[in-house]
Amino acid sequence: MIDYHIHTSMCGHAHGEPIDYIKEAISKGFKEVGFSDHIILHVDRREYSMPLDKVADYVEKIEEVKSISSSLGCQVRLGAEVDYSDGKVEEIRILLGKYPFDYVLGSVHSLGDWFFDDPRYAYRYTEVDLESLYRDYFKALSKSIESRLFDVMAHPDLVKKFGFKPKVDLKSFYAEAVEALRKNHLCIEVNTSGLRKPVQEIYPSKDFLIMCHRAGVPVTLGSDAHSPMEVGMDFDKALALLKDVGYEEIVLFSKRKKSFLKISELELPRAR
Ligand SMILES: [Zn+2]
Ligand SMILES: [Zn+2]
Repeated sequence: MIDYHIHTSMCGHAHGEPIDYIKEAISKGFKEVGFSDHIILHVDRREYSMPLDKVADYVEKIEEVKSISSSLGCQVRLGAEVDYSDGKVEEIRILLGKYPFDYVLGSVHSLGDWFFDDPRYAYRYTEVDLESLYRDYFKALSKSIESRLFDVMAHPDLVKKFGFKPKVDLKSFYAEAVEALRKNHLCIEVNTSGLRKPVQEIYPSKDFLIMCHRAGVPVTLGSDAHSPMEVGMDFDKALALLKDVGYEEIVLFSKRKKSFLKISELELPRAR
């Protein structure tokens, strides 16, 4: 099994060192994991991201554990989860170009000054027009895809996290993003962390995933683990969804180049 969305204590709000996640992954039979700690350029980062002057330390730390992990049968990939920001595209590109990332996840966690995935500010969902909120979110998602900064869009319908949805057909919001993914050859991530949140759904929704499959958009798999025990959590459900939709392969990355792995070759995580 493969998990490409793992945080560490370096981002300031996850628990555990890289080696703790690797031990957990190996005990569950994982063959490959990717670390993807937060890098955010456009806001005060103290709560959400590693400090920018620590990115080099993060990269070094992940590079350090690569050989020990591969000797134990689990390949480690160097990734990052980077927030899209309208005014910071070139700055982000320069920063990402400095390090040998295997892949970069792109995310939209905020709109304007609102970190809409932070539970402390979830009350704001009751104060906004949900249809406009979804329109703004998916517009920001499309822009981040078109920036070509990223390889994969993480948790692509994160705006549903707290279960607030407009009473319209959500497929109309997905179409532009799916077209942008197709045109720019990006992947989307099937991310199981939504099952642990109020919405209790995988990101993305089945309808969104069906549209991606029809458009030939490839997928990666991620748990968004913020503690070691969350590595590979609910991947049985993610694989069932992928198979149901018709996906036969997932994507692996090395030095930002894709390769494909048959889903039939993946083994479900072992119980510990
Ligand atoms: Zn995220
Ligand atoms: Zn994450």
